Amino acid sequence: MEKWIYDFSEGRSKDKALLGGKGANLAEMTHLGLPVPSGFTLTTESCMRYLNDATFFEKHLAAELRTAIKRLEVETNKTFGSDEDLLLVSVRSGAVFSMPGMMDTILNLGLNDSRVRTLAEQTNLSFAYDCYRRLLQMFGDVVYGIHKESFNVLLIEAEKANNKSVADFNEQQQVSLIEKYKELFSKHKKVFPQQPMDQLKEAIQAVFHSWNNPRANVYRELHGIAHDLGTAVNVQEMVFGNSGNESGTGVVFTRNPSTGENQLFGEFLLDAQGEDVVAGIRTPQPIQELSERLPDVYQDFLHYAQMLETHYKDMQDIEFTVENGKLFILQTRNGKRTAKAALKIATDLVAEKKLTKEEALMRMEPEMIDQLIHPIFEPTALKKATAFAQGLPASPGAATGEIVFTAEKAKERHELGSKVILVRQETSPEDIEGMIVSEAIVTSRGGMTSHAAVVARGMGTCCVTGSEALTIDEETKTVTTKDVRLTEGDILSVNGNTGEIYLGELPTVVAENNQDLALFLSWANEVADLDVRANAETLTDLRTALDFGATGIGLARTEHMFFGEERILEMRRLILAENAQEMATALTKLLAFQEDDFYQMFQTIQEKPMVIRLLDPPMHEFLPHDPQDIQQLAEKLGQPVNELTTKIEALKETNPMLGHRGCRLGITTPEIYQMQVKAIIQSAIRLRQEGVPVIPEIMIPLIAEKEELVHLKTLLIETIEATFNSQNSSLFPYEIGTMIELPRACLIADQLAEQADFFSFGTNDLTQMTYGFSRDDIGKFINRYQEKAIMTQDPFQHLDQQGVGQLIKLAVSNARRIKPELSIGICGEVGGDPQSIPFFQAIGIDYVSCSPYRIPAARLAVAQAAIRSRRS
Ligand code: PEP
Ligand code: MG
Repeated sequence: MEKWIYDFSEGRSKDKALLGGKGANLAEMTHLGLPVPSGFTLTTESCMRYLNDATFFEKHLAAELRTAIKRLEVETNKTFGSDEDLLLVSVRSGAVFSMPGMMDTILNLGLNDSRVRTLAEQTNLSFAYDCYRRLLQMFGDVVYGIHKESFNVLLIEAEKANNKSVADFNEQQQVSLIEKYKELFSKHKKVFPQQPMDQLKEAIQAVFHSWNNPRANVYRELHGIAHDLGTAVNVQEMVFGNSGNESGTGVVFTRNPSTGENQLFGEFLLDAQGEDVVAGIRTPQPIQELSERLPDVYQDFLHYAQMLETHYKDMQDIEFTVENGKLFILQTRNGKRTAKAALKIATDLVAEKKLTKEEALMRMEPEMIDQLIHPIFEPTALKKATAFAQGLPASPGAATGEIVFTAEKAKERHELGSKVILVRQETSPEDIEGMIVSEAIVTSRGGMTSHAAVVARGMGTCCVTGSEALTIDEETKTVTTKDVRLTEGDILSVNGNTGEIYLGELPTVVAENNQDLALFLSWANEVADLDVRANAETLTDLRTALDFGATGIGLARTEHMFFGEERILEMRRLILAENAQEMATALTKLLAFQEDDFYQMFQTIQEKPMVIRLLDPPMHEFLPHDPQDIQQLAEKLGQPVNELTTKIEALKETNPMLGHRGCRLGITTPEIYQMQVKAIIQSAIRLRQEGVPVIPEIMIPLIAEKEELVHLKTLLIETIEATFNSQNSSLFPYEIGTMIELPRACLIADQLAEQADFFSFGTNDLTQMTYGFSRDDIGKFINRYQEKAIMTQDPFQHLDQQGVGQLIKLAVSNARRIKPELSIGICGEVGGDPQSIPFFQAIGIDYVSCSPYRIPAARLAVAQAAIRSRRS
């Protein structure tokens, strides 16, 4: 018989796929002997079965559920049905991958009109009715969709009517408030079930359904989690953190999730249930203060926290409850953390000999590295600025943007191109889409573990929480402090590292490179098979790339060197030359510029390899199109405006991407490539004379025909040899290679390999030409494609492994058959994409090349790909 429910004593942490993350960890902790309240888990499979067939519950789950409850009654020595020895349970979702706050929870389940009286006798009136009200509210919300806030309104009305706080209500007043809650159910044509077993069934079904609620769907989309995994449901004996001052609840990380420091980090609230901490309604106290309030409990907690971290070899995020002085651990999981913390924790755990370097490398998402090299406020501007408000530094980073008060507005303004800062009293899971598009999130309430803090940290978004000096009125759309009043659209700057908030815009700079990152990435180099080079042509980019650990330059796009004011004029003279003399004059000037450029580039990268690509774009890209600019150029060139306009018109192409560009240009106007090659070799000769052993690598773009390559190679070799002669230089090695950017080039890769010293795949053009999607226009339709699930990803961002990838694979294998030692790189955008890198590792590429800021993440991705490939 199939088994759908597992007691906590039956599972282990390896059973995550079946029991969900929470369930598997509860089982593991039970196994380790930690004080975990008893319970059981309904499997993720049972969720999917039920979601696909509603009759499944009664047919297959109900009987097993009754048995599980019976067993729980025996284990706890309590009863679920009768009015004595009350067993109350919590019902919580628990997916395979943690989705904080995305799905539902119901506490205190099992209370009803008569059992609440028993609880009141055993504890006290106020506590018992507090529990019952919470149950009605959560049950109403989760199971019947009755808005939580409507219950609060009734509570406040009753307090006003009775002129006292609910904690001081007498029995009759408590009962009467419960009646009001029940009337709210009736208004929604629902009845709160009095039978604990009925409550349990409905609650479990609602939690199953919450797998498909819109915010959970958005979260899964954002984090690439499959929609068909389902959530497990954990049913667990209730322990009460809200039963007095010897009780409480807290959320604690074993290390600081913002900085990574090895010190307990978290908060607790006395006399409270877990949701009070997460919802940010009451401001919690730092965990260290528990050592004064409940010293024995604190010592026990320290012991278990250490034990869990050592067991899981990772920083843990632990939820606990204390009931009348006794500690219970309710949950542990690997804690979400900022990139900065992830790095520090990984390097510290290696230093503490709790992890190997390889394990540490596998712990960090390559995308997280991006957050380490993202902006901070420019230090001198920051020094001069005065913060007008301060909150908790919940998630690091620095951001400037206009104030919005709702998630909808955030999306609307973002779509119009604005940078927005979402400012709210507190966030809730419904805000997720607005949070995704915001540069920063600011809340006036909540602590470091509030919803806003946890979600922002996960997304790497700058966030400040609990900025209590801000009065945020979401109705009137104003933020006020005692000195300032701001409205929607006003500009704020937010410092997620310090929690400070500034009026107006502050300039940002990229954060300093840090020691831990350098060490961590040096481990990546130790295991990597692929090199990581940079796409760069300016000296600044080259230096940044080298600082980030590029092993060379995989693509220097020379057209980018012609855009300076002086240079573009000479380029225009060349394109528009009327005769050989004019052309020669322009070429001489351009040669001097280029030689100087290449000299400085070689000098910067020294003996590291550098692939220089000859001119690629169509000529008309260098010409003006605006009548005013044409007029100015005509004056400079001394040509009549109408003639110039006609010439420019004539150079325009219908499909420039498929037109007169790349090697085609080199064939029709050989003077340009000759000039470039001469400049490359002359600069290399100078460097050689200075003792730097450069080996120029010259790359020809957009080859489709073997003959194109043969023709151009002959031209280049003639020029190179003439240059050596004219400079009286002895020969030194150089290479001539080609880009593979067209499907045809992939299909004839063996023929091209005979001619080329190296290959570099230009996946931008190759994707464009394979799909027939214009790389500049895909933005107009890819969103629709994704919405309609026609394509899940933009193939210019992540390699299309089934199509473009297969062409590359074929080309690599055919080329290597002819020339096994052929050096092969990837220099299109996907070269820096951590998702695509494992494919390049698998097909035997030598290096990937990407823009400088993508290098650190690519280095980690390359190391992970190597480790995975060895493990498999
Ligand atoms: C490419 O096509 O992938 C490439 C790197 O060249 P470019 O982007 O300059 O066309
Ligand atoms: Mg290209």
